Amino acid sequence: MKFVGAHVSTSGGIFNAPLNAKSINARAFALFTKNQRQWKAKPLKDEDILKFKENLKKVKIKPEHVLPHDSYLINLGNPYPEKRRKSIEAFIEEIERCHQLGLKYLNFHPGSHLGKLTEDDCLKVVADSINEAVSRTKDVVLVIENTAGQGSNVGYRFEHLARIIELVEDKSRIGVCLDTCHMFAAGYDIRTKKAYEKTMEEFRSIVGFEYLKGMHLNDAKSTLGSRVDRHHSIGKGNIGIDAFRFIMNDDRLNDIPLILETIDPSIWKEEIELLYSLVET
Ligand SMILES: [Zn+2]
Ligand SMILES: [Zn+2]
Repeated sequence: MKFVGAHVSTSGGIFNAPLNAKSINARAFALFTKNQRQWKAKPLKDEDILKFKENLKKVKIKPEHVLPHDSYLINLGNPYPEKRRKSIEAFIEEIERCHQLGLKYLNFHPGSHLGKLTEDDCLKVVADSINEAVSRTKDVVLVIENTAGQGSNVGYRFEHLARIIELVEDKSRIGVCLDTCHMFAAGYDIRTKKAYEKTMEEFRSIVGFEYLKGMHLNDAKSTLGSRVDRHHSIGKGNIGIDAFRFIMNDDRLNDIPLILETIDPSIWKEEIELLYSLVET
């Protein structure tokens, strides 16, 4: 079974996220547990945590189908030690927020070398940051997202994800999230059945589906291999609808959150319906 949803708003309170998911008939969702453009956040209030958990039950979405996303400011691969320290501390706070909310995952972008480190050195720094975060927190699985490889971002090759996993000591606390737009922009074609199977086989052999904890379903305004991160609505971009049919009929992608981060939230409900209509029975 597929669990499709979207990255919903928490406006008015974090406890509104499950209700916002329900209103678009989502069976999964993503959210920010704090303002994603600020370093600091007030601690979550006990009553808000309680209301969040109640609403999650009310809409019948399981914690493992919620994929919180961390702040855009965090760079676990930052070559400047003081700045990296700030990122690690903020990351740990985010893990704690997820834990308080009873959630299982935290989705994050690996990081950027800012032109100061080689890619492999940056991946080592990212893994060091993750190891520290894991050792200072409990339970929450840290889900690395593949990137489009824009700017100096690492994580655009499956090998990068595998390298981080290899260097993380506690493998039970690490997972990956595949973003279709990022994959495509990084040069992984999924537009035809043959290309899709080739890309997924590459993912299986290099990373492994046991680490796949979620996906971001986005079409792309950017082109194959452009290393540019521009999302588009499902079926309207350069990836096209067929890739999403392959995804919706791929049993390896059952039971994980499949999250829309497409550009027009006003059609998310229709996009979710469209995706489910692609399931062949
Ligand atoms: Zn994404
Ligand atoms: Zn993106």
